[in-house]
Amino acid sequence: MSIFRAFLSFTLLVVTSICIAQESRINSVSLLTTTRILSSDAFEGRKTDTKGGRMARDFIVEKFEEIGLKPLDSTYVQTFKFHNRLFNVNPTAHNVIGYLEGTEIKNPSQGCIVVGAHYDHLGVYAGDIYNGADDNASGVAALIEIAKELKLQPASLPIVFISFDAEEMRCAGSNYFVNSNLLPNESIHLFINMDMISISSEDKLFVTGTNFHPEFKKDINETLEYCDLSIKYGHDRKRDDGLNNWVFLSDHGEFHKKGVPFIYFGVEEHQHYHRPTDTFENINIGFFVEASNVVLSFVKTVANKKSLLKESRKLN
Ligand SMILES: [Zn+2]
Repeated sequence: MSIFRAFLSFTLLVVTSICIAQESRINSVSLLTTTRILSSDAFEGRKTDTKGGRMARDFIVEKFEEIGLKPLDSTYVQTFKFHNRLFNVNPTAHNVIGYLEGTEIKNPSQGCIVVGAHYDHLGVYAGDIYNGADDNASGVAALIEIAKELKLQPASLPIVFISFDAEEMRCAGSNYFVNSNLLPNESIHLFINMDMISISSEDKLFVTGTNFHPEFKKDINETLEYCDLSIKYGHDRKRDDGLNNWVFLSDHGEFHKKGVPFIYFGVEEHQHYHRPTDTFENINIGFFVEASNVVLSFVKTVANKKSLLKESRKLN
């Protein structure tokens, strides 16, 4: 009997640990497939207002539909025009936006977490396709997988997923979004940005934003217990100047300007950054999968955080 009991509890223990492991892991095959597709030559570098850019938009819309995300508006697509000073043109661009209801709070305007990853890149120059596998097919693929997981295990707060356009044009997509009032900025407890999370020879993922919002550091550290990579905080201090300061380097800067808390995940500049060699073949697969799992785990933690739920209840 006691042997049986011991066997039983052992079995339960094994089952439980497998469940925990499964619970917090993304589908790596799907993650890599999406990255490979978005960074393939067919998408021609996904430049804003080009055929390749629109193909990427449609691809993401299709994924949002498949997952069952809800549109904030009548459609997932937020279309806008802006002036690009560098080329003196007025391109048309499209953010793709969808959300999951929370179990406690349904409507994102009553308090939510926003997860973002821009999908545009540099396009084609002098006959070279800038595929942008790391920048930022990687972030978009992770965003899609994170949305899938959270659909299966809903969090208490709503989560809004946004794939921005025109990040490579001075963050025009996120700038438009935070000024559009499609979602009141006051309702966003935290904006989590992923931009370049797949190339690191040292398996080092950077986190920027905790200098302004140290309350999220503990949540990030907790996610690392089951992950096989090292995190480095920084690039957000007063002493970080010039290119060493990442606070306004990607879409999270636009949220920061509006006073919305942000946490950014990304890698240091590498040899393939903004070069035609930023291709799927040059991604560090093991690192990319782990980095995506860290962000998934962090999103889950904050979207279930009691203090944020309390804040939401105060909002309403
Ligand atoms: Zn980028």
